[in-house]
Amino acid sequence: MAETRAPVADTIVAIATPPGRGGVGIVRLSGPRCDAIAQALLGATPAPRLATYAPFRDAAGAALDTGLALWFPAPHSYTGESVLELQGHGSPAALRAVVGRCLELGARLAQPGEFTRRAFLNGRIDLAQAEGVADLIEAASSTAARAAIRTLTGEFSRAIGAAVADLTELRARAEASLDFPEEDIAFVHVADAAARLERVRAALAALTRRARQGVRLREGLTVVLVGRPNVGKSSLLNRLAREDVAIVADAPGTTRDTVERAIEIDGVPVIVVDTAGLRDADEAVERLGIARTWAAVARADVAIVLVDAREPDEGLTDDDRAVLSRLPQALPRLVAHNKSDLAGVAARVERSGATVHAWMSALTGDGVAELEAEVRVLAGVDAAGEDSFIARERHLVALEEARARLAAAAAELALVAPALELVAEELRLAQRALSSITGEFTADDLLGEIFARFCIGK
Ligand code: GDP
Repeated sequence: MAETRAPVADTIVAIATPPGRGGVGIVRLSGPRCDAIAQALLGATPAPRLATYAPFRDAAGAALDTGLALWFPAPHSYTGESVLELQGHGSPAALRAVVGRCLELGARLAQPGEFTRRAFLNGRIDLAQAEGVADLIEAASSTAARAAIRTLTGEFSRAIGAAVADLTELRARAEASLDFPEEDIAFVHVADAAARLERVRAALAALTRRARQGVRLREGLTVVLVGRPNVGKSSLLNRLAREDVAIVADAPGTTRDTVERAIEIDGVPVIVVDTAGLRDADEAVERLGIARTWAAVARADVAIVLVDAREPDEGLTDDDRAVLSRLPQALPRLVAHNKSDLAGVAARVERSGATVHAWMSALTGDGVAELEAEVRVLAGVDAAGEDSFIARERHLVALEEARARLAAAAAELALVAPALELVAEELRLAQRALSSITGEFTADDLLGEIFARFCIGK
């Protein structure tokens, strides 16, 4: 926030490439001493933003390594400070020696994330973008990586910024009518304000959907497999994971514990939880497995209820119905009618109310791709998550807070005689919630907005 954006005096240094040997190793520095350090190491300050080939020298003038130096004088750099990047050979020993020399010359070792933190503190990027940088590095799939790029290049922040700007204007109008009630210009035409508010709410709803997808891309989905013993849960898990991870056996109750497997379905990281047979078990070890099964169900995004395609009455037995009735009401579910090969039916998908039914065979793989597609739809991650941006739980919390505030403002505006001070207050709180996403201090450019829009002397 504003008060923490003080200039920093020290110069930080770190090896920017991963540990170990590699083709190239990069030492990165940021801060006011970079210029002096460059002169000592390289003999001269390199030309800005051009690759300069030079030896990196120790105090006695001997070369520690040779490579390319890149010089980014402040403020045109990643951090907004002077930045020096030294690209040497990827030798851990040589890299350590170069860092050691930088320490002698007055730099200190950087903390994790400190370059990006400085970029944020210096206003080069906002908080959501800074988080996007970390999320790109952490991205577990190419879809998640693309979503992280959208966040770090500011697509998410710009959408938030647009909503904040709309709210600022609405607030300006609401507060102008409060401050100057004697003016008979109606600053807030209630119907117009309500329509504008609806537009912002629609935009935030769309934004929340994209951000929620982004959270799922980042954190992965949890899909829980439930069903009676021997119905084919382990086989389906193996099929989804495309390798053998669970014991497949003919004897009921073989899968005694939950088995978690991290897989990827069309670019979305998915944790599939195979469950112990959900039936009364005599053995203590099985009971433990059953308790864990319900714990897995509680944190799942989607449940796949596996039944035998050969069973009559939609394939649901009393046991299956008991399981279904215990699933959380809001948990999206898919009934997979497995062993379609034995039932002699073709793979297909049908919808009955909120429940999706898919006929498939874990053994032959028939219908498994269709099942995967349905799982993604149920989890709210649409076609390859293409328009999502990586987001975090705190962003969702802020978006929900803003949406709740705007719902309250809209409800007030819908009254015959809306209390504009309440509307203005809800708008302010919504704006504050949104601004927390980008970490911006939008405190009050509000008065400026009012003066810019209305001629007060009139
Ligand atoms: P779980 O107890 O629910 O985990 O069931 P398993 O995955 O261990 O499967 C029980 C038995 O059914 C094994 O012999 C599997 O090979 C068999 N099985 C599983 N899925 C299918 C299927 O789609 N078709 C056929 N024919 N057999 C299957």
